[in-house]
Amino acid sequence: MARKIGSRYTAHQVLGRGSAGTVWLGEGPEGPVAIKLLREDLASDQELVGRFVQERTALLSLSHPRVVGVRDLVVDGNDLALVMDLVRGTDLRTRLDRDRRLAPETAVAIAADVADGLTAAHSAGIVHRDVKPENVLLDVQGPVGPGGAHPALLTDFGIARLVDAPSRTRATKIIGTPDYLAPEIVEGLPPRASVDIYALATVLYELLAGFTPFGGGYPGAILRRHVTETVAPLPGIPDELWQLLVQCLAKSPASRLRAAELAGRLRELLPDLAGMPPLDVDEPDSGAEDDPDPVHDEQPHRPQEGAETPRRGAVPLVHGAARDSNRDTHTSMRVPSADELAGGAHGTARFPRAAGERRPGSARSRAASEAVRRRRIRLGAVALGLVAAAGLGGWLAAGEDEGDAKPPGVERPDGASSAP
Ligand code: ADP
Repeated sequence: MARKIGSRYTAHQVLGRGSAGTVWLGEGPEGPVAIKLLREDLASDQELVGRFVQERTALLSLSHPRVVGVRDLVVDGNDLALVMDLVRGTDLRTRLDRDRRLAPETAVAIAADVADGLTAAHSAGIVHRDVKPENVLLDVQGPVGPGGAHPALLTDFGIARLVDAPSRTRATKIIGTPDYLAPEIVEGLPPRASVDIYALATVLYELLAGFTPFGGGYPGAILRRHVTETVAPLPGIPDELWQLLVQCLAKSPASRLRAAELAGRLRELLPDLAGMPPLDVDEPDSGAEDDPDPVHDEQPHRPQEGAETPRRGAVPLVHGAARDSNRDTHTSMRVPSADELAGGAHGTARFPRAAGERRPGSARSRAASEAVRRRRIRLGAVALGLVAAAGLGGWLAAGEDEGDAKPPGVERPDGASSAP
């Protein structure tokens, strides 16, 4: 049934549901649009509504063929809606779930498109901060490019910005999705443009491998891996592509390429990748299979009866808790202390590794030595007191003062004026 959104838009039919609300196919004065109607509990948060309006100009300013444009923000009674360009297609997560991994040419073409979108955003002074396959839409009505890839567009710009009133996140909180978080964010530094490059390189690795380099298990464990572990090589990957990935996954933000450079370098690789099949990469081993670590036996994670075996990115945040998805945008993770990042114990509760947790980015050949190393480090010490409210419901949980909220549009990719 049609539903009026403000005076100018009508929502006709649900296109998809996300953590923040429902996306509708709608109609506006200039034709078809996508309307993201935020969840009722979010829409009734006065603080959030205020920020929504405050960010309007910055959100509407970004216009680029590789960015899903935000056309309007509507506050209407109980409704809070983002009116966006309609993309006829699917999101990259759905594609990845279907194909498991993509041919290198296709993966690189998609990543190059996303890098183009980031180039535009970064030069407009906007850092995305939540680049992940869920936030890349594939326009299946657009022209087919290298490797059969349809144009890829980056979406959900502004969501992280809306969530991140500085007073909410300053000093102790981080926002993002654990698998894609750059190490400097985990260490509490303000996010610069280079965090988007790190996240995009993580996405590209995932498109090639079928899993992220540092994902698997509890969010706290993932955060620590971003800081301490090196990325495991992918068998059969062309060397130049691998070097590019390694450079963009560098722990040091300054070592990573800028978005425009990355887009250019990726496109240069395309001719050599033509016709190459998807990489033959083994799934990382399950920790339960090859790790007799007694730590696990102290508090073994057991899937609830009838539950499927936990997959990477879909494990409970704490033992016995409801299933958490690491792919959701987490909005109130605590910045771990240096000791926690190093794996030191503070006498806090241990996090056992989930039964289905996989080793980060590990080809099977790496798994045995990794198991020994992991036993020494003991993930249990990473009891971060992590309160990762899945999805944007965490907006409401943070609730600090708003005294020093920065004006819209000042989050500079070079960090010139964004430091807290
Ligand atoms: P959330 O960010 O709240 O998790 P999403 O942005 O992921 O929500 O939207 C959920 C689904 O809606 C997506 O998987 C996609 O299929 C669809 N969708 C989102 N934005 C658009 C758009 N601009 N055009 C077409 N479909 C869209």
